[in-house]
Amino acid sequence: MTIKSIGLSEPLYHYLLGAGVREPEILAELRRETADHPRISMQVSPDQGAFMAMLIRLIGAKRSLEVGVFTGYSSLSVALALPEDGRLVACDVSEEWTAVARRYWARAGVDHKVTLHLRPAVETLDALLADGQAGTFDFAFIDADKGGYEAYCERCHALLRSGGLIAVDNVLWSGSVIDDANQEEDTRAIRAFNEARARDDRFDIAMLPVADGLTLLRKR
Ligand code: CA
Repeated sequence: MTIKSIGLSEPLYHYLLGAGVREPEILAELRRETADHPRISMQVSPDQGAFMAMLIRLIGAKRSLEVGVFTGYSSLSVALALPEDGRLVACDVSEEWTAVARRYWARAGVDHKVTLHLRPAVETLDALLADGQAGTFDFAFIDADKGGYEAYCERCHALLRSGGLIAVDNVLWSGSVIDDANQEEDTRAIRAFNEARARDDRFDIAMLPVADGLTLLRKR
């Protein structure tokens, strides 16, 4: 099972999934197929997928970015919510993980919306900027190596239109952000990222206890 929302008991979380999440069958299948994956905790939870799809629809997103695809649960959630002419630029470095994602994009009939770039995300985002695409994206989801968050956020900020939204995953890092004994590289990177965003007046900010912590940054 993917990580449940921080602070919810297991029974209450299951109630939430039953009462408040209408998971498309194709997403449930993807979750079943990847249930035994050794890195399964990297997969976003059904409630988070539903929340992101809701955000896409709420802001009328047409052009979306994803940094960190893994096996595709979040990108499939987003692609299903995008309009027919919507576009998702997906960044990852793993051929193996994204092979699963590609198969599900095709099965769901949304593969025409998704362009996958298999190279370091900073290179892909810089190429989009060099191509004159600054200010043209509506939504970005950042969920990759934590040491790269700052660099991804800078580039996504440039690529987003004013009023566009960045969703940043794992910002509570299983609660370790408040554990001073934990000085691991990823934990420190997330703390530094969170501290920088708290006083970053280029964005409106809302940090939510969805799954492992999700920060919403709205470009001013
Ligand atoms: Ca994540």
